[in-house]
Amino acid sequence: MKCDQLIKIAIVFGLGTIACRSVTPLPPPSFPAARDSTEQESPVDFDRAQLQSVLAFLSSDLLEGRAPGTRGGSTAELYLQSLFQWMGLQPGHGARFLQPLPLKAIQLDEATLEASGIQLALGPDLMGSFVSPERFFAVQGPAVFVGFGIQADRWNWDDFKGADLKGKFLIARVNDPGTIYPEIFEGKTLTYYGRWTYHLEEAARRGAVGMLLIHTDESAGYGWDVVQNSWEGESLYLPEDLDNGLKFRGWIREAAFRKLMVAAKQDPDGLLRAAQQKTFKPVDLGFGIRISGKSRFREVTASNVVAEIPGRSKQRIVLSAHIDHLGMKPGAGEDRIYNGAIDNASAVAALVMTARLLQQHQKELFYTVTVLACQAEEAGLLGSEYFVKTADRENLIAAINFEATPVWKRAKSLMGIGAEYSTLDDTLQTVATQLGVGTSRFSLVNQGLFYRSDQFSFARYGIPALWISAGEDDLSGERPYTRFWSSNYHTVRDEYDPQWDLGALRQTIQAAVLMVQDLNRTKARPSWKYPVPFPMEKQPIP
Ligand SMILES: [Zn+2]
Repeated sequence: MKCDQLIKIAIVFGLGTIACRSVTPLPPPSFPAARDSTEQESPVDFDRAQLQSVLAFLSSDLLEGRAPGTRGGSTAELYLQSLFQWMGLQPGHGARFLQPLPLKAIQLDEATLEASGIQLALGPDLMGSFVSPERFFAVQGPAVFVGFGIQADRWNWDDFKGADLKGKFLIARVNDPGTIYPEIFEGKTLTYYGRWTYHLEEAARRGAVGMLLIHTDESAGYGWDVVQNSWEGESLYLPEDLDNGLKFRGWIREAAFRKLMVAAKQDPDGLLRAAQQKTFKPVDLGFGIRISGKSRFREVTASNVVAEIPGRSKQRIVLSAHIDHLGMKPGAGEDRIYNGAIDNASAVAALVMTARLLQQHQKELFYTVTVLACQAEEAGLLGSEYFVKTADRENLIAAINFEATPVWKRAKSLMGIGAEYSTLDDTLQTVATQLGVGTSRFSLVNQGLFYRSDQFSFARYGIPALWISAGEDDLSGERPYTRFWSSNYHTVRDEYDPQWDLGALRQTIQAAVLMVQDLNRTKARPSWKYPVPFPMEKQPIP
């Protein structure tokens, strides 16, 4: 990093504290960040209280877990809008900061599955969503087992073999065959073809009326309680998700699947084994599935908050982080509030601080920077998807997303989740060298994390994108970030702690600022490194 750059950044962070401190309900104590002796003179050395103020406010109980369309969710939107205005950013949605989302919410109240003379119940046997506005519903179709339900030309894998699946009710296993055969797909690294969202999208493309994914603890990577937890309550959709013919989508528990197969005189193990072969063909199970029940439909009012820092070009780099979290859920014990301090208040704090720095350097910007605090990520990346679908995509050159940013001590490395698929990896390497650290890959490769946050909404439309983060390995050799994913992620325990060091958060901000500056300096247009392990809805711009 150039010396004048260092000085400028230091000056920016020397300027007063962020205005939001005065509205924070929990004024955080300001004390010097814990430093270790190995830390070099930091190029970005700002007051921890600035970061804490955003983090503490968004994580507070008063925001009630920031679910889209709730009082807490709307408060978070207004707070971000106020911050962006105060910082002097320009509105990023025409003349406005708020981009309203046409979200539809559906709550499944009752559902029963009838097939082969047996009944399966919502809760213990199946979870899911009926995707249509009617109060009373019945979805039915001939049952077909489709193996993994994957067509991926790159690995010459096609479970469908041209079968006509219109009007059928599909049953599929999750993951991709790479989890069984390390030499195909990406081995243990889950590809998008293994994500349950892909299976549902593929079923909808093929005209199916319903789909049930078989849940096993092993294949899903989490227990049935997690499926229940995430599918009970409302499901949110964009209108086009409701317009396709896939009316019921959900999960069937392994034991229920086995019971159903035995009742229909099918061999469940034989089916699962057959699905492991490339030669697999869809199996007509010889019975019909009917799911009927009651559901409720409503419109939800929620918005992305979009700002921009104009550069000389109309081409733009998007910086993003999702505002929303899981809200409040009754019955989750005494604490009902999913505060989402790390997921994703920390990342929003990183977004705000990165934008603030870049705003102070606006004159140096060639590319315009769009600052996107997006909604409804937890409901399936809906806010970012809507943003990308309605954007002038030809002029989006790259997206840098913050997600569940580590808040502990400085890390030994930087991570770019999904960076390896594009030349953004080279930019990240340059930045890591400037910061005197290495780069690393996230160890949780079987979780498909690249496909589970907003960077993927950009990537699937051909816009090179990554999730930027400090690495898992902190300077004292501890891995608090890795522990977070197995112990506190998506629980009520994801709460703010004023003792957090925030060194890794600061490091992530430094890295993002430097990445944007490097892209501006080189005026490089990032491009993909082929082939990528996910289908693109729009081919990238050459
Ligand atoms: Zn998140």
